[in-house]
Amino acid sequence: MSANFSGIRSVIPPVNEPIKSYAPGSPEKASLKARLASMAGETIDIPLIIGGREIRTGDLGRAVMPHKHGHVLATFHHARPKDVTAAIAAAQAAKAEWASWPWEDRAAVFLKAADLLATSWRDTLNAATMLNQSKTVYQSEIDAACELIDFWRYNVAFGADIMREQPVSTTAMWNQTDYRPLEGFIYAVSPFNFTAIGGNLTTTPALMGNTVLWKPAGTAMLGAYYTMKLLEAAGLPPGVINFVPGDPVMVSQIAMNAPDLGGIHFTGSTGVFQGMWDHVGTNIRRYRSYPRLVGETGGKDFIMVHPSADPQEVAVAMVRGAYEYQGQKCSAASRVYVPKSLWPSVRDRAVGMMREITMGDTRDFRNFMSAVIDKKAFTKIAGYISHAKRHAKIIQGGGSNGRVGYFIEPTLVQTDNPGYKLLCEEIFGPVLTAHVYADSKFADMLQVVDQTSPYALTGSIFAKDRAVIRQASAALRNAAGNFYINDKPTGATVGQQPFGGARASGTNDKAGSKLNLLRWVSARSIKETYNPPKDFTYPFMGEE
Ligand code: NAD
Repeated sequence: MSANFSGIRSVIPPVNEPIKSYAPGSPEKASLKARLASMAGETIDIPLIIGGREIRTGDLGRAVMPHKHGHVLATFHHARPKDVTAAIAAAQAAKAEWASWPWEDRAAVFLKAADLLATSWRDTLNAATMLNQSKTVYQSEIDAACELIDFWRYNVAFGADIMREQPVSTTAMWNQTDYRPLEGFIYAVSPFNFTAIGGNLTTTPALMGNTVLWKPAGTAMLGAYYTMKLLEAAGLPPGVINFVPGDPVMVSQIAMNAPDLGGIHFTGSTGVFQGMWDHVGTNIRRYRSYPRLVGETGGKDFIMVHPSADPQEVAVAMVRGAYEYQGQKCSAASRVYVPKSLWPSVRDRAVGMMREITMGDTRDFRNFMSAVIDKKAFTKIAGYISHAKRHAKIIQGGGSNGRVGYFIEPTLVQTDNPGYKLLCEEIFGPVLTAHVYADSKFADMLQVVDQTSPYALTGSIFAKDRAVIRQASAALRNAAGNFYINDKPTGATVGQQPFGGARASGTNDKAGSKLNLLRWVSARSIKETYNPPKDFTYPFMGEE
C-alpha cells in the first residue's frame, strides 16, 4: 500500500466521558426512552459477520430480557465449525493490509467509534445493555457508554506513548523499536456482564495491528452485535474483527487448535480460562509462536472494616458494592468483615437501605436493581441462599422469584465461621456475607481476608486511623489487584484505576492501560550502523 501521510501526528490527551444523569425531564432521558421502546418493539435477526459478510446458519439462539424472559429481543445464528475456520481465514487475510497501516490510521477508526458512541449510537448501546443484560440506566451508562468511550480514547493515547518509546542512538548508529503486531490472529472471548469489555477485548489488539476472532457471550448478544455494527460504521475494514457467536466449546477448540493462534484475550470465569490455558499448554508444539494468554477472571471481593470506620460509609459501600447490577460485577463486594463494636450500627443501616431497594424492569428508571442474567445463574445463586438458610443466618432478603424475570432479592448473610462456603466461593449474584470479629483481632482478620479465597481481584479497607490503613495495605498487598481505601471495591474508571487482579483472578494485564496494549505487540529491535567496520581485528591484538 502506498503512503497516505507524512508527519508525526499528535493525539489529544483524553478525558473521561461525563456520565449523563437521565434525570426526570432531561433530553437524554426522553431520547433513551424512545430507543428502549423501539428496540423492545422489534425482534432483530443477528448474523455472524465474517470478513465483512453476514452469514446466517439457521441454527438459532434467542436474546431475551432477563427481567421478562418471555420477551425475545433478537434471534442470533450459531456458527458451524466451517464458519469458525472461515473466520480464522478472514482474520488472516485482513492482517497484512491492516498491520501495514500507520498506527494513527487504525487509531482514527477507534476515535471515530468513540465519537459515534458519545453521540448518535449512545442510546442504541445503552438500550441494548438495559434490555438484554438487565442493567439500570446508570449501570448501563457507566458501562456501555462511558467506559467503552474511555477505552477507545485512552487506548489511543496509551498507544501513542508506546510508539514514542524508542531506544537511545549515537551519532554512529540509529536504534529503533518496531512495535509489530503478534503473528497470527487473536481469539477474543467476552463475558455477559459488561458491554464495554467485549468492545475492549477486540479493539485493543486491533489497535496494535492484530486481527481478531470474537466470540461474544450468548447471554449478551444484543450489545455485542451493536458494538460490531458501530465499529463498522466507524470504518473498521472487513475481517479485522470477525463476529462469531456459537457454542463456546466448539468455537474455542477450533480457534485454539489453529497453528496461527497468536493470543487469547479473555474475560470470564476462572475455570474457563484455566481450561483454555490447559488446552494451549497441551498444544504448545502446534503453534507458530507462543500464544499470549491474557485473562481477567473471577473474584471474591472484600470490604475490611476497622473499628475506627464510619458505620454509615461502610453500610453505603456494602449496599452499592454488593447489590448494584445484582452483584454481577467481577468486582462486587461479596464478603465483609465487621468489628463487633460496629456491627449493630452497620447492620441496621445496611438493612434500612436494603428495605428501600426497588427491583424490576430496567425501563422503569425508579428501579435500583433488576434481574440476574439467566436461569442457570438464578438457580446457582438461589442454591447459595438456601445453603445459607441452613448453615448461617439470613439478616435480610433471601427471596427469589423466577416466574416473569430472574429476580433475586438483595441478601445479607451473617456467619460466625470465617471459612464458611459463602465467604470463599464466587457467587456472582446479590449476596453479601458478613463475618463479625472481636475488635482486638483486627490483625488476625487481615490474614484471614488474605487467605480465605484463591482470588485477588478487588477489596477495600474502611478506617480513619492512617496507621491502620498502612497496616492493611501492607497485609493485603497481594489480596487485591485493585485496592480501595474508604471506598466500595467496585466502579474502576479507565485511566484512573487500571483494572485487573492476580492469583486466580487473572493475569493482571490491566484493561485500559499501557500494560495491556503491550501484550499485543512483539517488539523488533533494529540497529542501523552508518559506517560498518572494514577490518575484523581489534586494537588490543597489536603487541607493545
Ligand atoms: P463465563 O466464563 O461463563 O463466560 C465467559 C465467556 O467464555 C463467554 O463468552 C462464554 O460463552 C465463554 N465460555 C463459557 N464456557 C466456555 C468453555 N468451556 N470454553 C470456552 N469458552 C467458554 O463467564 P460469564 O458468566 O460470562 O461472566 C462472569 C465471570 O466473569 C465471573 O467469574 C466474573 O468474575 C468474570 N469477570 C471478570 C472480570 C475481570 O475483569 N476480572 C470482568 C468481568 C467478568
